Amino acid sequence: MPMTPHDAPPVAATAPNSGKAAPKQAAPIARKIAVLGSTGSIGVNTLDLVDFASARGDADISIEALTAHRNLALLVEQARKHRPEFVAIGDETLGPDLKDALAGEGIETGAGPRAIMEAASRDADWVMAAIVGAAGLEPTLRAAERGAAIALANKECLVCAGDLLTEAVRAAGGALLPVDSEHNAIFQVYDFDRPNRISRLILTASGGPFRTWPKEKMARATPAEAVAHPNWSMGAKISVDSATMMNKGLELIEAAHIFPTPHERIEILVHPQSVIHSMVEYVDGSVLAQLGAPDMRTPIASTLAWPDRIESPSAKLDFAEVSELTFEAPDPDRFPCIRLAREALARGGAYPAILNAANEVAVAAFLDQALDFAGVATVVELVLEKAERLNAPGRIASLDEALEADATARRLAREAAAERAA
Ligand code: NAD
Ligand code: MG
Repeated sequence: MPMTPHDAPPVAATAPNSGKAAPKQAAPIARKIAVLGSTGSIGVNTLDLVDFASARGDADISIEALTAHRNLALLVEQARKHRPEFVAIGDETLGPDLKDALAGEGIETGAGPRAIMEAASRDADWVMAAIVGAAGLEPTLRAAERGAAIALANKECLVCAGDLLTEAVRAAGGALLPVDSEHNAIFQVYDFDRPNRISRLILTASGGPFRTWPKEKMARATPAEAVAHPNWSMGAKISVDSATMMNKGLELIEAAHIFPTPHERIEILVHPQSVIHSMVEYVDGSVLAQLGAPDMRTPIASTLAWPDRIESPSAKLDFAEVSELTFEAPDPDRFPCIRLAREALARGGAYPAILNAANEVAVAAFLDQALDFAGVATVVELVLEKAERLNAPGRIASLDEALEADATARRLAREAAAERAA
């Protein structure tokens, strides 16, 4: 494991309700942070939480770097407000505009993939990895290699190069703090000192917007229908992943890298209310869960303050209003992506990277209306079959191997998507 909550503060010496004085107000948490992908859904929530915690005096936060891909207007607005040392825009052609917009502000700017890497290299002690997709892998690895605490939203990093990333965190003595709500939930109740006393991890899933749709209707679903998530407001790519339930497949692989529980003992359970964010079952039958309103500022706050806690602006749960929590097994027929992810995980090696890259291409084609909804799973399955014939490498031992598997799968997926559209 790259990190465990060992350095959590000792249990309070005074028991609750003992009649003794309440503990003193904790000192504000001090962090120097970078937000990679600051203009996305997670990035915006992160900066919102930073504002909230700073205004309350709960946190003393300085921002080292912010990055975006193309959203120049929002990046400039964030830079003016949050005064980072450095801002980077991924799209090289927007570099001069970024520089002009921030001229005289005393903020350094950069453009292109090298500038994103520079943002990850600067000495923030806490880095929010919130770039979407495998594009986030190299900067996240860079931040991990210098020992920063990585608040990991970008699950695709772990899917395509999980061993490299967890090894980099371990070697540098940093921390990997999962932001994904399910993994954050498990992280909060997982006994890292006694993993062999854990019998099961249960990843909960909302079931997405098509949970109750018949298969024929799903096959014709439009991008607008697929991104209309019932409980969470998220970026387009993860919203489509929730609709296909590939999101839960990617999360299964993510969990297998973060927690030392054999992947066969990680289960997926549909829980439409998204109140229980995941569960850990122990050998004695006890099940520990983390619950909360579906608001990413709660898991982000838990990683920002970790191992402490800070107030977040998320709504607190009103159980009388929630009134019922329901559960159902995912339907393997309508959601084949879960099976594809499980197979890729069991095969290991480059297969998870191939699954991820094929899915990224297929989702982008679907969002561009160049592929039908049912085609997303079909393209991923075809690419996995073709990769098997090409003898995909047994293990991803280097960044180059991860990038090569990713590039090969993208090429195969573009071909498969074009063939299906023809
Ligand atoms: P988003 O699409 O809203 O934002 C993505 C961010 O990445 C933007 O800032 C964008 O500018 C940047 N970006 C995109 N492509 C890039 C590239 N090639 N190079 C550099 N930067 C690039 O996505 P999101 O919903 O915020 O999700 C971000 C990550 O967090 C994803 O991996 C997602 O799976 C994960 N996640 C999101 C949520 C959520 O609630 N949104 C929940 C759990 C996990
Ligand atoms: Mg999740």
